[in-house]
Amino acid sequence: MKVFVLDTSAILSGFMGEVMIAPLKVYDELKKFRNELPEHILAYYEESIRFYEPEEECIEKVRKAAEKTGDIHRLSDADIEVIALALEHKGVVVTNDLSIQNVCEELNIEYMSYLSKDIKRIFEWEVVCKSCGKVLDKKYDRCPFCGGDVGFRIKRSRSLKKK
Ligand SMILES: [Zn+2]
Repeated sequence: MKVFVLDTSAILSGFMGEVMIAPLKVYDELKKFRNELPEHILAYYEESIRFYEPEEECIEKVRKAAEKTGDIHRLSDADIEVIALALEHKGVVVTNDLSIQNVCEELNIEYMSYLSKDIKRIFEWEVVCKSCGKVLDKKYDRCPFCGGDVGFRIKRSRSLKKK
């Protein structure tokens, strides 16, 4: 089973894989989006992603590769740790960042962009009333139909068809 290593933007885009990991620095970045991301979505990722601190040795390898390709100044510490984790866990990096992809190439790490056709599934969220179960068009404080609590749920993960 593939291990997906996610950067912050991949998480914010709603990428979903069966096994997902990310460095702790990505977790820190995610917390900055606490106000923008619905609580339930954040909670979902907090439960589904295992966060690790990558080994120093792998971070060093990534830094060296990034210096070689000239991407080092375009990469944040979190970016470097994403690649380092992939190296350590033989994972697939999920990112749209070209510098990250470049360094992955250099290190023979598999990667995919989350808008590419390589990604088989993405998932969609919907707003629902927890009392009457109606699907709502946006997040209301209270359900406009019955006044119940409003929450989020995963609508479905949908397959992306190859073109
Ligand atoms: Zn309702």
